[in-house]
Amino acid sequence: MQDSQLEAENLHLRRQLEALLREARANEEKMRRFDELEHRLIGARSVLELLRLLLSDYGHAFGIESVTLALVDADGETGRILDSELRDGAVLNDLVLLPSAAPLEALYGTARKPWLGRFEAPSHARFFNAPPRPPRSVALLPLSRHGELIGSLHFGSCDAERYDPAAGTNLLERLASIVAVCLESVLNQERVKLAGLTDLLTGVHNRRYLEHRCGVEIAQARRYKHALACLFLDIDKFKQINDAHGHPAGDAVLRAVGHSIQSQLRAGDTIARYGGEEFVVLLPQTAAQHAREIAERIRARIAAMPCTADSGQPLEVTISIGLAMLGAVPAGQEPALVAAELMAAADRALYRAKAGGRNRVEFEAA
Ligand code: GH3
Ligand code: MG
Ligand code: MG
Repeated sequence: MQDSQLEAENLHLRRQLEALLREARANEEKMRRFDELEHRLIGARSVLELLRLLLSDYGHAFGIESVTLALVDADGETGRILDSELRDGAVLNDLVLLPSAAPLEALYGTARKPWLGRFEAPSHARFFNAPPRPPRSVALLPLSRHGELIGSLHFGSCDAERYDPAAGTNLLERLASIVAVCLESVLNQERVKLAGLTDLLTGVHNRRYLEHRCGVEIAQARRYKHALACLFLDIDKFKQINDAHGHPAGDAVLRAVGHSIQSQLRAGDTIARYGGEEFVVLLPQTAAQHAREIAERIRARIAAMPCTADSGQPLEVTISIGLAMLGAVPAGQEPALVAAELMAAADRALYRAKAGGRNRVEFEAA
C-alpha cells in the first residue's frame, strides 16, 4: 500500500473516531439532561409544576418544537382540579382532556407501545392543538397505570427524520412510565387537597377555601389596582322548603342553586358555600356596574329555574343577593380583616335585600 493511500485511510479513520466521540459526548450530554429532567419530574409538587416541566421545559431541553398531552378525564375531576389550579393559558393550550380512553385505545391498539413516525393528520391532528405548523414526524407515548390508559404524551418535530419508526424506544418507554406515575401522584394529591376545600353537598368550594381565596384576590386587586366585587347570596324562605317538602328536597335545591350560580361564572371567579343556604361569589376585575348586572342575572336565572319536589309539586326558589366592592372597605388593614369586612359589607346589603322583600339585589355603596 502506498504511503499516501495509508495516510488517507488514517485520516478517514481519525475522522470517523472523532465523529463517534462527538456522538458519544452528545449522547452523554443528552442522557445527563434526560436524568436531570427525570429528577425534576419525580420532584414535582403540583400538577402545575409537572405540566410546565412536561409541556414547556422538556421541549426546550431537547429542542422539540411541539409537546402536548392528552389526559383521560371520565368523571370531570381532572378538569375541576385544573380549573382551580391553572390560570396559565399557555399550558392549557397543549393539554387535551378526553372523556374516555377510547381515542387512545384506537391510537395504540393492544400493544400500547410508543409510536414513532411521520405525522398523519387524520389520526394525529387532534392531539396537537394547533401548533404554528403541523409537525412532520411525531413520537406518541401511551401513559398507562395498572393496565389502564390514563393519557398520552406527544412530541412533534419539524424534522421529518427525527422520529424514525426503526429507532429504539427504550428511553421513551422509561419516560412514559415515569410521567404516568408522576401524573397519577400529583393528581391524587390535588384531589385530596380539593376534597378538603370542597363542599360535599353542592360540589362548590367550602368556606375554608373562600377565606384563602379572598385573601389572594384582595392582594391581587390592590397590587394591580383592579376592582373586586363580592356577592353574598342567600336562598329565600329556605326553611319553608325543608319544612314543606323534607330535607332531601332542600338538599336538591341547594345543589341546583350552587350549580346554577357556578354555571354563570367565568373561570377566574370564585364561588363557595359559606354555610347553610348561603353562598359567596368573588368577581375579580369586575367593576360595580358589571357586578350588579351579573348579580341580577344570577338572581333572575334562579327565579326562573324549574324545580319540583319528589311529589311533583313545583317549588318556587328565589335568592336575595347583597353586593359590595373592595373599594368600600378601608385600605391598609390586615388582609384577613379586609376580607372579613368585605364579606360583612356584602352581608349588610343582603340584609337590606331581605328587608326590602327578597328575590332582589342590593348594593352596599362605599
Ligand atoms: P330567609 O329568606 O330570611 O333567608 O329565610 P330562610 O328560611 O331561608 O332562613 P333561615 O336562616 O331561617 O333558615 C335557613 C334554613 O336552612 C334552616 C336550615 O335548616 C336550613 N339548612 C341549612 N343547611 C342545610 C342543608 O345542608 N340542607 C338542608 N336541606 N337544609 C339546610
Ligand atoms: Mg341564611
Ligand atoms: Mg335564607
